[in-house]
Amino acid sequence: MQILPKVLKLSAGGMPVAWVDWQRAVCLYMDNKVLWEAGAEPIMLRGGWNRECGERSTFALSPIIAVNDRSRIWEQGGVFPLTRRRLLARDRSLCLYCGGGVSESTMTIDHVKPRGQGGRHVWENVVSACRRCNQDKGCRTPEQAGMTLLAVPFAPNVAEILLLSGRHVLADQMDYLEQFVTERPPLRH
Ligand SMILES: [Zn+2]
Repeated sequence: MQILPKVLKLSAGGMPVAWVDWQRAVCLYMDNKVLWEAGAEPIMLRGGWNRECGERSTFALSPIIAVNDRSRIWEQGGVFPLTRRRLLARDRSLCLYCGGGVSESTMTIDHVKPRGQGGRHVWENVVSACRRCNQDKGCRTPEQAGMTLLAVPFAPNVAEILLLSGRHVLADQMDYLEQFVTERPPLRH
C-alpha cells in the first residue's frame, strides 16, 4: 500500500502543532474544521472506481492545514515535554559522546550533570547516549569523566521536533517548519 505523507496541522494563527495522518485530515475537512491551507503540492488520495463513469474518485489534501486547535503549546513556551522518542529525534539517533548510532531500544538517557549532583531531568541537561558511554561516564560530569559532548543539549521548539520526527516530510512542510528553527552550532566531530 502507498505510504502517504502526513499533514502538518497548524493553529489558526499559523503555529505548527502536530502531524496528522490522512484519515484524520479528511475528518477535519469533512467537519469543516480547516480554516486555511498552505503548500503548493497537494497530497492526492485515490479512492474507488466509479462504475458509471469509469473514473476514479480523488481527494486532494493540502500538505499544511490550519484549524482551531485548542493546544496552548506555543503560549506555554513552544516546547514539548521531554520523552525518549523526542530526545532521540533531537540528538539524531546518535550517542552524543562517541557519535555512534543508537535506536529507541538501545539508547540511554544521560544526565549531563548527574542527578546525584543536583542535575535536573530537563531538555538542557539530557542527551542520548549508548549504554557503554553512559556506563563509562557513571555518576560524573563530562569534565570529571574526561569525556566531550558532541553538541550542547537544548530544548527544541515544537517546530524543530516536528521537523526531526516527521517521516517523508514534504518540501512545502519543511519550508514552513524551517521558519521556526533556531540557529544552533553544528555537531562537533
Ligand atoms: Zn557512546
